[in-house]
Amino acid sequence: MRCIHILIQGIVQGVGFRPFLHRLAETHQIYGWVRNTSVGLEGILEGENDALKQFLLELETSPPPLSFIEKIDIFPIKNFVRYTEFTIRESHVSAGSTLISPDIAICPECAAELFTPSNRRYRYPFINCTNCGPRYTIIKALPYDRKRTVMKEFPMCDDCKREYDDIHDRRYHAQPDCCSTCGPQVFYFDTKSNEKTKDDAFSASQTLLNMGGILAVKGIGGFHLACDANNVDAVTRLRQRKHRSSKPLAIMCRSLEVVRRICNITQTEEQLLLSPAHPIVLLSKRKKTKLSHLSFSSRLGVMLPYTPLHMLLMDQTYGGPDTIVLTSANSSECPVILDNMEAITKLKEIADGFLLHNRVIQNRCDDSLLMEWEKKAYYFRKSRGYAPYPLLFHQNVDGIFAMGAEQKASFALGRDFHVFLSPHIGDMKNAETFSHYKSTMETYQKLFCLKPSLYVCDLHPDYLSTQEAMHAAKEWNLPLIQVQHHWAHMASCMADNALHSSCFGIIWDGTGLGTDGSIWGGEFLIGDYQTFSRIGSIRPILLPGADKAIQEIGRIALALIHDAGVTDLTVVPLDSDKCNLLIRLLSPTLSPKASSIGRLFDGVCALILQKSYVDYEGEAAARIESLSPVETPDSLTQPLQKLSYPLHFYMEHEMRIFDTRPMILNIYQDLKQNVSASHIALRFMATLCCMALDQCLFFNQKKLPVVLSGGVFQNRFLLSGITSLLRNSGFTVYTHRQVSTNDEGICFGQLAIAQKKKPQ
Ligand code: ZN
Ligand code: ZN
Ligand code: FE
Repeated sequence: MRCIHILIQGIVQGVGFRPFLHRLAETHQIYGWVRNTSVGLEGILEGENDALKQFLLELETSPPPLSFIEKIDIFPIKNFVRYTEFTIRESHVSAGSTLISPDIAICPECAAELFTPSNRRYRYPFINCTNCGPRYTIIKALPYDRKRTVMKEFPMCDDCKREYDDIHDRRYHAQPDCCSTCGPQVFYFDTKSNEKTKDDAFSASQTLLNMGGILAVKGIGGFHLACDANNVDAVTRLRQRKHRSSKPLAIMCRSLEVVRRICNITQTEEQLLLSPAHPIVLLSKRKKTKLSHLSFSSRLGVMLPYTPLHMLLMDQTYGGPDTIVLTSANSSECPVILDNMEAITKLKEIADGFLLHNRVIQNRCDDSLLMEWEKKAYYFRKSRGYAPYPLLFHQNVDGIFAMGAEQKASFALGRDFHVFLSPHIGDMKNAETFSHYKSTMETYQKLFCLKPSLYVCDLHPDYLSTQEAMHAAKEWNLPLIQVQHHWAHMASCMADNALHSSCFGIIWDGTGLGTDGSIWGGEFLIGDYQTFSRIGSIRPILLPGADKAIQEIGRIALALIHDAGVTDLTVVPLDSDKCNLLIRLLSPTLSPKASSIGRLFDGVCALILQKSYVDYEGEAAARIESLSPVETPDSLTQPLQKLSYPLHFYMEHEMRIFDTRPMILNIYQDLKQNVSASHIALRFMATLCCMALDQCLFFNQKKLPVVLSGGVFQNRFLLSGITSLLRNSGFTVYTHRQVSTNDEGICFGQLAIAQKKKPQ
């Protein structure tokens, strides 16, 4: 006989771990007890030596599917209690903290029960079990027990309690377990004061969608707006009311079969769609698909129903649409909607009907967005289904609070070897998003027992994240490190790939403050986590009217054309009076300058599409990408070098600068000769790929690992073009794998740099 004290750390709460141990103990005749603690799970186990060995082996090799064991500690105990049964004890709260599972999409077993008429949870929209359902979005405090979640409001009925207590049941110790007798309820109402409950709520919702109405839906981590995706009028109305005229809209399809009708999907994309997170996956539209009202690009954001509520909204019973637009109800004006009253007030001008429920959203979590890249996920927004699960870091990062940037605001908080990354927060340009940022950080601090010992933020003094870092560092008398934006991007990609020595960074994005006070964004850097140097960039672009030029991209076109020495302004999509007025602003003393690839995309887009305004940052780059006749250079019949405009560089301040003027002159000539927009777009992107290779050949003769980071690398053509050009020339290229390539990933790089630079 042997007796041990066991401590298990990792994702071991809310994933069916205790029931799993209970069943395993029964199989091997192990007696004793286990319980949740604030740091994981602990227990005392007694049994035959061999049986205990087998028990531990199975624990390590086949734990519950959603769990993740980081560490098992075993301590032998001399004094036997001689337990006669195996029990699960009341949770024990102490200092320290454990990990929380993200929200998990409905599992196949629950989905089957949902549509089985004889099942007592038939068509009950909150069905869940140990393997699926809400986690992060319902939790208030640790350890994870029903009384510390929003499910506290719903005492279990006898039937649910019986399942909860039955070790052989799939709902054994499933904290959010409930049924139509005891759990949350849905309800529907609309502007014609129809009110419906239970299944009638879904019938009414589907009817509204069929009639072209706009439905506000309360989901698991926030509110969405929905309409029939195939109804062009409905989508147009939604766009008008939401003031979102051209930004692509994500859709939800009833099933994989419906997705296949609209999009071509690879095996990996199918796996990503069906993965426990059920993210939005950017899929390539079929040629026949006529969904240009949803997205101007060749790709479309698609997800599958991930909660029972969404399944019922989309099922065939009431003849509703099989494809709906499902877009976050949060706009830049009202970024955070959490409760029903707030939703009704803020959405009453937009929605024709509301499908709501009475379970509180404790923690907001938006849909995640990714694409497949080299057979893996490549993130654009990592949130629902992933947050708040931490990344493991190669070094101790305890107490490092990295505050992120401004667009796609995010934070990264360190505890031991864990990095806790925030869910999606949004562009932090107003007080509401900022307060959401702060409250999410407070939630994380409380849930994971995080204490700051060091703050790290961007260089930009106007970012609210920078101001918050300065304020907090002062208040708590803690050190503060400021990290240049593009260096943080570079470090983010390095840490993402566990690279520890010097790297060559190609860091392209829209905007970031440089160490010289100008705006950067087309950078070639060499460095590590301790230091970096800027060795190459692109010729700065003047932005007449500063921020105004970011929306009115015609201004950037003018700056580029003027800089290239072209006096014929007919190609600039602005009227001639405006041109003449703005030309006077085109001097470095009157306009800020930006060496930014994002701005270059803006200007070129304005020229080739004769488009003077964009609705959102990044639209121009997305439009040029979608103009190209091929998605990636692999499908081209000729090499990129053949398509590229001639490259010119000059040296300045010991940097090798890509001269944009000859390229713009070439584009101008192509425009004059009526070369198609799609061919110019292709040649422009080919030029950027070849320019990246040229700089790399020039500077990186030592063949340092190359990292690609920054929002521009959301562009599939540039990402694959540059990667393959460099690889073919013998360079090792790394792209993001676990964090987003855009500014959401900045906090991770800030944290990696702070880890090295922190005062010892
Ligand atoms: Zn389930
Ligand atoms: Zn019940
Ligand atoms: Fe950036």
